[in-house]
Amino acid sequence: MSNPKLATNALHAGHDTTQTSGTRAVPIFQSTSYVFNNTDHAANLFSLAELGFIYTRLNNPTNQILQERLAAIEGGVGAVVFASGTAAIATGLMTLLRAGDHIVASSSLYGGTFNLLNVTLPRLGITTTFVDPDDPTNFGKAVQENTRAIFVESLGNPKLDVLDLKGISKEAQAAKVPFIVDNTVATPGLLNPIEHGANLVIHSLTKYINGNGTALGGAIIDAGTFDWTNGKFPEFTEPSAGYHGLVYSEALGAAAFTFKLILEGLRDFGGALSPFNAFQIIQGLETLPIRIKQHSENALALAEWLQDRKEVAWVNYPGLKGGKYYELAQEYLPKGQSGLVTFGVKGGFEAAKQLTDATKVFSLLANIGDTKSLIIHPSSTTHQQLTEEQQLSAGVSQDLIRLSVGLEDISDLKEDLEQAFAAIDKSVLA
Ligand SMILES: *Cc1c(COP(=O)(O)O)cnc(C)c1O
Repeated sequence: MSNPKLATNALHAGHDTTQTSGTRAVPIFQSTSYVFNNTDHAANLFSLAELGFIYTRLNNPTNQILQERLAAIEGGVGAVVFASGTAAIATGLMTLLRAGDHIVASSSLYGGTFNLLNVTLPRLGITTTFVDPDDPTNFGKAVQENTRAIFVESLGNPKLDVLDLKGISKEAQAAKVPFIVDNTVATPGLLNPIEHGANLVIHSLTKYINGNGTALGGAIIDAGTFDWTNGKFPEFTEPSAGYHGLVYSEALGAAAFTFKLILEGLRDFGGALSPFNAFQIIQGLETLPIRIKQHSENALALAEWLQDRKEVAWVNYPGLKGGKYYELAQEYLPKGQSGLVTFGVKGGFEAAKQLTDATKVFSLLANIGDTKSLIIHPSSTTHQQLTEEQQLSAGVSQDLIRLSVGLEDISDLKEDLEQAFAAIDKSVLA
């Protein structure tokens, strides 16, 4: 095939059936280790003179197919999978950075990522400046001499702000640091950050890519476009003490970061994906292109319906005309704006809690991107550890409800919310 498109890659990329006994489905290679032909073969694998499987913490044939499929879909030279989205982010940053380094990040991030950057990494000497992502030049203004990465989410969770990726990528280029984009909410079904200048793309595979809420997973896709020899990344240009003097940029060229992630990141931090979970995630990925369209269609219909409800103070969905991010959404997410909708309930914190207690089809839980519809009140749950000011800069007001709109019939979803609105105490709503 000359140039397979998204739907074809989602079904076929990375799987050569002649290498798997002709199995049409990708098999689960449930093995921790791989028999070497002889001692020389083993020595060649360890020295990278030959590429092959050694131990499942580093790579596995099922995981490898998922990696090649994700690289094809996002347009990268390589991909590495991890036990969770969080393991991908933590291992990626630990592979890239050292004590004394600095990150410039969007203030509108997933709560777990915010805590990693704001609390845990500073303990190890890596600090972050958070900036308002609406103006791309804010990133450039926050760059310091020791800045080594710019980190954003293409579609922020839960603020649902659409970022001007092209504008921010110019700031990263000027600063000569990699531009890292978490593309979990938008998914490669709707947006490919590499087309807009991202050097590394991150996914929590747990969400829309698996899509069924059955397996945790994460990935980093390497665009292969970053120049590691620009003087700021000596660990890529000097002999690596951690891998018998290997000079990553010379030996591996465009795939230098992909290999460092495997040879040092997975080897030393151990956040490997189980091949069973890789299999589950492959089943989900096959149908991502059609699922994400329906998630987007249902979310837009529900957002429009919510706008007309008397109990609702405001609605945020990037596909709503007149909304703050509508124009950016048309530019970056023309095929659909994914399945998350947020809205405020009149009556604030208490009314929001009563609403989330009353839904029957929408499940009250802390996840997104499931085929089933989900609901949560972030201020009292996912974001409760943040101060009110931090909550607000992450886009979380006290009255905010986040919906992850699933694939149920839209009329049933409306009926469920209708009865849940009716269950809110009238004195609280007023
Ligand atoms: C869920 C999520 C993560 C973390 O992924 P896990 O698989 O839960 O570890 C990171 N980024 C975003 C945007 C997420 O929604």
